[in-house]
Order: sequence, then structure tokens, then C-alpha cells
Amino acid sequence: MPQFLYDFSSDTQTRPSPGMRQAIANAEVGDEQKREDPSVNRLQEMIADLTGKEAALFLPTGTMCNLIAHAIHCRPGDEIIIESASHPVHFEGGGPAVHSRASIRAIDTENGVFTAAQVEGLIRPNDPHFPRTRLVCVENTHNLRGGRVWPLKAIEEVAAVARKHGLLMHLDGARLFNAVVASGITTRDYCKHFDSCWVDLSKGLGCPVGGVLTGNKDFIDQAWRFKHLFGGAMRQAGIIAAAGVYALEHNINRLAEDHAKAKALAKGLAEIKGIAVDVAAVETNIVMFDIAGTGLARTEFLERLAPHGVRFSPLMQPTRLRAVTHLDIPADGVERAIASVCLAIK
Ligand SMILES: *Cc1c(COP(=O)(O)O)cnc(C)c1O
Repeated sequence: MPQFLYDFSSDTQTRPSPGMRQAIANAEVGDEQKREDPSVNRLQEMIADLTGKEAALFLPTGTMCNLIAHAIHCRPGDEIIIESASHPVHFEGGGPAVHSRASIRAIDTENGVFTAAQVEGLIRPNDPHFPRTRLVCVENTHNLRGGRVWPLKAIEEVAAVARKHGLLMHLDGARLFNAVVASGITTRDYCKHFDSCWVDLSKGLGCPVGGVLTGNKDFIDQAWRFKHLFGGAMRQAGIIAAAGVYALEHNINRLAEDHAKAKALAKGLAEIKGIAVDVAAVETNIVMFDIAGTGLARTEFLERLAPHGVRFSPLMQPTRLRAVTHLDIPADGVERAIASVCLAIK
């Protein structure tokens, strides 16, 4: 039994369901490095088909998907245009600098969505003083901006500017299926604007491990080289890939339930005096809120919630927290969280 039965700290806080465990137990396996693992091959084919790309590659983590894409697209001294609160900027140990020796040109936004004009304004002239602008990265949904969904039109416009200037496009789709389910835009329609895309299996899809990177055949051939180089080429990885296959078959459409729960949670929190939350900004499974008005220190607030089995995650700003809904939030989770917050701030 997990310590926090109502664990809103992340959608990574899921455990494989009985059905998923059955799929794992029954997985057909082989040597992934020899391309002989049927479950890995099937997962890769499914993702390539879903995203409309020629090929796909199973990797141990989403972080490795990002770093391999950056490493393929960028030469040392290249520059990556990316939103300032994106995952690689904060949570990948300086990955772009370490693995690609690329620099970051960050764009500040309210909601994670930047404009084509902002991109165009940052593109460097061809002059040896400057880094060479090379890659535009989009995070959809955008985690630290509250699970915001990129409108397709914004992506089309950014992609058009990127093409015009010979830049490449990369999609961090850790929560792409949340964007797809929330917007009704198909995965293919999102992905067709990108040279590389990936989806995380260990977030809302509920798998224990893994991410899948996609692109054209040449890109994925190069990605295989980096998978070996970075020590991410595995053996009977079908044991974990089978969970991914199961998740694609069972856990995509149900993300709508997580979105409904997040909305209900935001509405409930908004009614509590001292808690500030922008309900309209909740588009998927993430709720950002601020407890400054309660006068409580955040550590104290979290400590008071713990005995109720409720957990949220602290954000960088000292009075802000994030709540994430997922498939292991029990049916009474929203009610329980709201009631516990009311008790905690008394
Ligand atoms: C979680 C996450 C990643 C990294 O994925 P891991 O599987 O944890 O390595 C990258 N980008 C975003 C937006 C994420 O939320």
C-alpha cells in the first residue's frame, strides 16, 4: 500500500494495474539489440503508426528521448529555441549543454505557448559571432505552465517560420495524449509538423518505465546509434514494452477522466479561502495553485495533509503547488483532497 493513497504529486505515481501486470507476465520477448524482441517491435510500430512517422524507438526514459533528439539535431555551438519553463531547461541536468554542447534561447510565456513572431525574432543572423540557431522545441502539454494544450494553429505557424529559416522542430510529447484527448486534435495532426516527437509511457499512460521517440527512418537509424552510445540499448525489454502496448490499447481515452477530476479539483480548491487557482487554465490533468493567502508555510501545509494520505508537489515559487490527476487517484480522490485542504488550513 503506498504511503499516499491520494498522491497528486505527479502522474508518474502510478503502479501497473492488474491488466498491465498480466500483459507484462505474458510478454513475448527477444533480444532488443538484435531487433528481435516482438513486444518492443510491436510498441514501436504502434507509436510510428499513431504519430504518422516512418519509424520509432523504445527508450528507457523521456529524458533520453529529448537528449537523443537534441544530440541528433544539433552540432556543438548550435542554439535551441525553447520555452523557459520547459523540462530540458530545468530537469535534465543541463542535458543540452552536456550531450549536444548546444545553448538554450529561452522564451518566457504565461501558458507555455509561444508565437511564430517570437521565434522569428530570436533567429540569429548568419554571422560567426553568434551561435547557429538550429532547433525549435515545443512541449505539449506544457508541464510547468499547468498542463496547457498547444493550439494546432500556433504549431502550424511556428513550424512555418522554422521551415522558412531552415530550422528543425522537436516535440516533447511527455503528455501528448493528454493534449490529444483534451483538444480532439489527432496525434498525427500534431506530429506532422515535427522532425522528431516522443511520448512518455510512465506519465498518464500508467506504465512503470519508458518513452518512445519517433521520426523518419534516417532519424531513427541515428537514434539507435545514440541509444547504444548512452547505454540505453537493452535486451529482453519486451517485459517493459508490453506494458506500453497495453497502455496504448487501454489507457489513452480514459485520460478524459483525469481531466474531469483536475477540473473538479480546481473548482473545489477555488472555493477555499486563501487558495488561489485559475480554474479556466486547467485544460488537462494538472492544477497549479497558490497557498499564500492561507498564511501557512508550504512545508507545514504539506505536513498537515500527509496524515490524510494526500500529497501535492511543491513548485519553484515558494507558495505554489501542483496537483496532477492520474489513473491511480481513487474515485473519492477529489473530494478527499478538498476536504483535507480545508482541515489543513484551519
Ligand atoms: C517527465 C517529463 C520528461 C522526462 O521524462 P522521464 O520519463 O521522466 O525522463 C520530459 N518532458 C516533460 C514535459 C516531462 O513531463
